[in-house]
Amino acid sequence: MKKHNFSAGPCILPQEVLLKASAAVMDLDNSGLSLIEISHRSAAFVEVMEKAQSLALELLGLEDKGYKALFLQGGASLQFLMVAYNLMEKKAGYLNTGTWSDKAIKEAKLFGDVVEVGSSKDKNFNYIPKGYSIPSGLDYLHVTSNNTIFGTQIKKFPKTDAPLICDMSSDIFSRQLDFSQFGLIYAGAQKNMGPAGTTLIVVKEEILGKVSRKIPSMLDYQVHIAKDSMFNTPAVFPVYTSMLTLEWLKNLGGIAAIEQVNEKKAQLIYSEIDLSPIFEGFANKEDRSTMNATFNLTDERLKQDFDAMCKEAGVVGINGHRSVGGYRASMYNALSLESVGVLVDIMSEMERKA
Ligand SMILES: *Cc1c(COP(=O)(O)O)cnc(C)c1O
Repeated sequence: MKKHNFSAGPCILPQEVLLKASAAVMDLDNSGLSLIEISHRSAAFVEVMEKAQSLALELLGLEDKGYKALFLQGGASLQFLMVAYNLMEKKAGYLNTGTWSDKAIKEAKLFGDVVEVGSSKDKNFNYIPKGYSIPSGLDYLHVTSNNTIFGTQIKKFPKTDAPLICDMSSDIFSRQLDFSQFGLIYAGAQKNMGPAGTTLIVVKEEILGKVSRKIPSMLDYQVHIAKDSMFNTPAVFPVYTSMLTLEWLKNLGGIAAIEQVNEKKAQLIYSEIDLSPIFEGFANKEDRSTMNATFNLTDERLKQDFDAMCKEAGVVGINGHRSVGGYRASMYNALSLESVGVLVDIMSEMERKA
């Protein structure tokens, strides 16, 4: 039985994408060769890379606006340090909204002064700080749009003269935003785009080349831009699969169309959490994520029953992160409204039984 996959990442991908990706592993476009045995310099793969890059820019509405898209390796975690390496001369601002921001801050401190402009650590990151002031003279301001672990999401981004840098790993391509407000966006593929192994970076070229330090080639955005993400061998399978997902999204009607589905899914689960006396949401209501819904049982004695019912229905991947406990239902683009319906039905049946 196909499972209802609520995993936080790696996570669900569209069936259609999995079918096409597995066919390409056997034979890429009737070439008689596998996707993973051809040269990354072959015309066939260069086309894949170019298409993945141009689809990313197109879906974000950033074509012809001075941005470049890159597919690199090292995960979002490498971006924590690459951002600082390439962009921090003296001082950068960070909004601390959880584990991932914390890790980004740790790396940035190796390169200069980090100003934590706001933090929600006081309440175990169950909200998004607001009304904080942003000092002048920052090299950039770094934010995490969606906090995968705690289930909070920035709805309104800070305004600043410094380039705004965003870790968008767990909600890229999920909602409409003015993406031109960002100087650089990065996202590990495995949350909303493809398999683990590649990271999308979308960067406005004019913010680069301003720091005085020397940058090792593999960590230098400008080197990767000059070589079109082919400075070294790219992760061919993750890039190909990401391209397929972006194509799938475009055919659905792009971000505008998927946003509507994502909102319906979120409304469905949050209204159950809010109405039910046996469940309690973790994140502050106005900051709740449309991607990762975090919640707890109000009575731990119900856990065994609830878990058994989920298992029976093929609902998987809803255990909360160890730093929060409870449950987390991740509802990325490829997860259907129907799957959320299955989980919500279990939740309401549990309430009747309790
Ligand atoms: C998962 C995640 C990361 C880490 O990604 P890796 O690709 O494993 O390095 C960073 N930031 C956010 C917001 C994430 O959800």
